[in-house]
Amino acid sequence: MKYNFCMKCGGRVKKSKGKFVCVECGYVMYKNPKPTTAGVIMKGNKIMLVRRNKEPYKGWWDLPGGFLDEKETPERCMIREAKEETGLVVKPVKFLGFKNDEYDDQRVLGCFFLCKILGGKEKAGDDASEIRWFHKSSLPRNVAFRGVREGLKEFAGARFAKRAVK
Ligand SMILES: [Zn+2]
Repeated sequence: MKYNFCMKCGGRVKKSKGKFVCVECGYVMYKNPKPTTAGVIMKGNKIMLVRRNKEPYKGWWDLPGGFLDEKETPERCMIREAKEETGLVVKPVKFLGFKNDEYDDQRVLGCFFLCKILGGKEKAGDDASEIRWFHKSSLPRNVAFRGVREGLKEFAGARFAKRAVK
């Protein structure tokens, strides 16, 4: 992400190491990643993926999750996003790790959680158009985002098939 103007006063900014500094008011804008969440929800050896219905990667498969709201903790965000996208009430039972990633031109930091289903009714919604369970040894090749694919491999022992799934 590149900033041309100060978010606070609209003044010009100067690029400095890892940040942008306003030459008018001194306000600092850091080039740090935005936190997001990604939920690993499993039934036996199957992992739930949701199909994205918007860009980037429209039509590709993804883990349920998304960007944190302003005052939200990663756990609360995970619960909210899972509810919005899958209809399920989940509980993040284990923090699995972080993955740096890119979303359009933004740097993001994905927080991965193993989630347990507490209730609700499975129904795709919000940014998801479809829900499907895939065996963890043959996830579709068209899973969106490098960090999500890495996380699935590292945190869930998943492997990817050669084929894309439409
Ligand atoms: Zn400024």
